[in-house]
Amino acid sequence: MRPLKMLAVAAALVVAAGCGTEPGTAHWRKAGPTPRQTFVMIRVPATNQYGSQGIVGTPVEGYIRDAVAAWNAHPDLQVTVTFGDTPGCPGENIGNDKVNCFYVFRVPNSAFSDGVAGRATAYSDGTHLYNGPGPRRPNSARIEVAADWTGQPENSERNAYCHEIGHMWDLGHPTDGSPGPCNGQGVVDADDNAALDKTIDACHSDPAPAPRASTEAYTGSDDCGGVTQPEPAGSGAVKRIVVEDSFATFAAAARSSR
Ligand SMILES: [Zn+2]
Repeated sequence: MRPLKMLAVAAALVVAAGCGTEPGTAHWRKAGPTPRQTFVMIRVPATNQYGSQGIVGTPVEGYIRDAVAAWNAHPDLQVTVTFGDTPGCPGENIGNDKVNCFYVFRVPNSAFSDGVAGRATAYSDGTHLYNGPGPRRPNSARIEVAADWTGQPENSERNAYCHEIGHMWDLGHPTDGSPGPCNGQGVVDADDNAALDKTIDACHSDPAPAPRASTEAYTGSDDCGGVTQPEPAGSGAVKRIVVEDSFATFAAAARSSR
């Protein structure tokens, strides 16, 4: 009995160390009907700048739909996904870059450095995420995922879409080296949702008036400890944030599949 018990404790420790997703500090601006709710649009074009790497009608379409459904289980997040070139992200004009929208591209493995299999690009002024400055596509906020997953472990490709979408909520990798958003299996778990809680509830003071002379008014608000604050457009100083992912064993296979 004694050795069994010790084994169980050891296993529990391993599980605890292997989980975790780092909360972020910025969120897509919030809008009604409830103050904390965040609406985000995802566009999955039929074409991209690399040529034909179709998503519509392939298993990848299912991976994206499943990932969106999993993230949407969080009560403060409402994500919609549209497949096809029309419409693109709204606000694809220089006058309005404060739209909650990003693209998903499936790209050739050769679009990345050796071993890199996914990339998430977002824009932030430190408190709010944006779809980015013009010109838009391919510079808009977006995730890019490698097209060829030959020889990779089961669920790797599925996980990549779920994981990169997780980065678009500003969620990050834990310092313990565990997989971060979606746990390496494409599964949104309690750690992901806890990190999302903290990130969406990240309390901040928005500059007023917005330094970009913007008059854009949003109906949403931050509910910071019971104190409601407006969500104005905020700073025009947009910073580009890029996260690259290698995932478990992608390096060797990525090289051999070129
Ligand atoms: Zn990552």
